[in-house]
Amino acid sequence: MRVVIDGAKCSGYGTCNGVSSAIFKLDDWGYAYVDADEATLDAHADDVRRAARECPTDAIIVQE
Ligand code: SF4
Repeated sequence: MRVVIDGAKCSGYGTCNGVSSAIFKLDDWGYAYVDADEATLDAHADDVRRAARECPTDAIIVQE
C-alpha cells in the first residue's frame, strides 16, 4: 500500500490525524503528511482507508 496526500486539496482539518496519528502527521500549519514506510501502512491499512473515506476534501490517495 502507498499513500499520497494531495497538498493542493488538503485543507488542514486534521481528520486523518484523528483516525490514525501513527500514519498521518500534521505540520505546523495543520496540513497533513504521511510518515510511515510501506510495511507500517500495510499494518494500519484499515485506518488508512478509513481516513481516506473521511477526509472532507478527498485529499488522501490510496494506492493498493
Ligand atoms: S483529513 Fe484531509 S484535509 Fe484534513 S488534514 Fe487530513 S488530508 Fe488534510
